[in-house]
Amino acid sequence: MAKARRGRKRDRMTRRDPDQPSAREHWRADGAPKTAFRDQADANRVALQVRLESGADLDPYRCRICHCWHLGNRPG
Ligand SMILES: [Zn+2]
Repeated sequence: MAKARRGRKRDRMTRRDPDQPSAREHWRADGAPKTAFRDQADANRVALQVRLESGADLDPYRCRICHCWHLGNRPG
């Protein structure tokens, strides 16, 4: 008769819009813009070079702010 569980589903709602570009896509943590590549092939080539030189595993992704490609740290 009594409803004990009211409004549970509302807890998981977030106001963040996933389609909204994040500043982190285009700028680094220190505020400098990331290196931009014209296409994924360019970004991949540099990512491979960085991996060979420093061992860092970088992931190319398309930036929604400048519509170029940047390299980001792959988590893990
Ligand atoms: Zn960008």
